[in-house]
Formats: sequence, structure tokens, C-alpha cells
Amino acid sequence: MRLNLARTLPRSAANGPGERFVVWVQGCPLGCRGCWNPDTWAFRRREVTEVADLVARIRATPGIEGVTFTGGEPFAQARALAEVGRAVRAAGLSVFVFSGYELAELATEAHRALLAATDVLVAGRYVESDRAEGLPWRGSSNQRVHFLTARYGPAALDDAAEVEFHIDPDGSLTVTGFPRSSLLLGEH
Ligand code: SF4
Repeated sequence: MRLNLARTLPRSAANGPGERFVVWVQGCPLGCRGCWNPDTWAFRRREVTEVADLVARIRATPGIEGVTFTGGEPFAQARALAEVGRAVRAAGLSVFVFSGYELAELATEAHRALLAATDVLVAGRYVESDRAEGLPWRGSSNQRVHFLTARYGPAALDDAAEVEFHIDPDGSLTVTGFPRSSLLLGEH
């Protein structure tokens, strides 16, 4: 089974608990105004990979606590990501998912398969006029954190990093996480 990815980051502390391998999938049908990743909306071929190859890359990354699926919309590729989730959990890693859907909207068999392979789900559309401003792991304050297994609880929120800056080997800058507006605008 294959996945269509936008990009990956082998190590991040700003996308869920601990250090995590982050997978941005390509394709999102939700179109939230002000989305931070509009380049991931189109359902066009981008970085197509076999599930087994992605699992191997994740499992070969030393010292990570888990994997995070974000996007784009992970539940648009739920069946393949469920396979990835099951495989990495079998290796002791945790699974964290950001989705634009509400939990109650995730009702298909494929959705349920990914939910069953998920430890923490952050769910809900991004609402530009309702920025979360310091709420860990959320872009807007309507979004909800669902602890789907006993692996984590609300205490995990206390250690969340707000934002990270990565300089890639080609010199380009990647900013990831959930910075407050004041950080983005350089205010104090
Ligand atoms: S669900 Fe996420 S990726 Fe999709 S449009 Fe909304 S904010 Fe962007």
C-alpha cells in the first residue's frame, strides 16, 4: 500500500509528546481559511512512498518516542496510515495525529482503523479568527485533544514545545509547531 506525502521531518519536539518523526501527508479537502500549510491541499502526486519503506525509515530513527501524522489531512489516507501506525506501535512507538475533522465525523471503517492505531488525536478545523495563543498542539482554541489510549494524559501538555526552527542541508528554513502570534510577529 502507498502513501502520498508532502514531507517528513525525522525529529521534532513541537508536534506531540517527546521527540517524534513527523509525516505531513499531501491532500486535504477541508480548506480552512488561513491554513498554515496550503501547499498540502492539492490531491496531486508528490512524494509517493510504500508503507513498508516509511515504516523502515521511522524504525531506523534512533531515540524517538513516536510518530506524528499531520498534513494535509491524515484521514484522507487513513487506511495506509493505519498500517504505519500499527507497525510502529508494534515497535513500542506512540502515534499522534492532527486532523481537521472532529472526532464525531470519523466514522468510516478506514477512519476507525486509524483511530484504533492512534494514542492521541488533535481534532477540529483551524479557525483563523480563534487562534489558540499558547494552547499546546493547537492552532485554534476550538480544536480538541483526545487521549485515545492510556499511554498519555493531560500532563503531557505541560512539556510541549511551542515552536522549532530547522535549517535543512540545502540551507532552507523549516518552522514547525504552534507559535503564538507575538512570536511570529516579533512582538514582546
Ligand atoms: S484541515 Fe488542516 S491542512 Fe486541511 S485546510 Fe484545515 S488547517 Fe489546513
